Amino acid sequence: MFNLVLFGPPGSGKGTQSEKIVERFGLIHLSTGNLLRKEISDKTPLGLEAKNFIDKGQLVPDEVVIGMIDTCLVNHPEAKGFLFDGFPRTIAQAEALDKLLALKKTSISKVLALEVSEDELVRRLLERGKTSGRTDDNDEAVIRKRFAVYKGETEPVAHYYKQQNKLDRIPGEGSIDDIFQKLSSAIEKERELATQE
Ligand code: AMP
Repeated sequence: MFNLVLFGPPGSGKGTQSEKIVERFGLIHLSTGNLLRKEISDKTPLGLEAKNFIDKGQLVPDEVVIGMIDTCLVNHPEAKGFLFDGFPRTIAQAEALDKLLALKKTSISKVLALEVSEDELVRRLLERGKTSGRTDDNDEAVIRKRFAVYKGETEPVAHYYKQQNKLDRIPGEGSIDDIFQKLSSAIEKERELATQE
């Protein structure tokens, strides 16, 4: 299996690039943000609980998102690989993911981290907030809170994967297609290495 993590702050383009990556490389897209928004629109108890955190720019508790990922992994026994988008966001989530993948006799192959300046991120998120209908995108205070959470809890996850020699940093500013080309070359390089092993 070939399992990727697309990593980066809110607004770095993970969702947009994930859609292109899964189409080209035939992976299953697992976005915890999308899964949580589906629970909210379906008005499930999990969705109602998660909404309280999301609207404040806070993270949903680890056990909730880990449980969702566990279910998705079990539901896709035939997958050639997964693309994790917006997960893991804490060290506890990264450790839990390693354990879940080990149960499937696989592991994370590569972590691609999109790098975008904070000014550009705020600009993109406020722009997206005008049309996305996402309550967490149209309030600058909530956006700033999401960055603070990212720096405190999520950035250490990059270090976790760097120690495992799995982290590749990719410039995330420029056209969508240029960024996709950079991501694709990094993925192709990794896949070649994997087939040589
Ligand atoms: P996203 O669409 O990835 O930006 O996620 C939107 C919001 O959903 C985040 O600000 C969090 O409140 C919540 N969320 C998404 N993924 C996770 C995760 N892996 N851990 C905790 N909360 C998450």
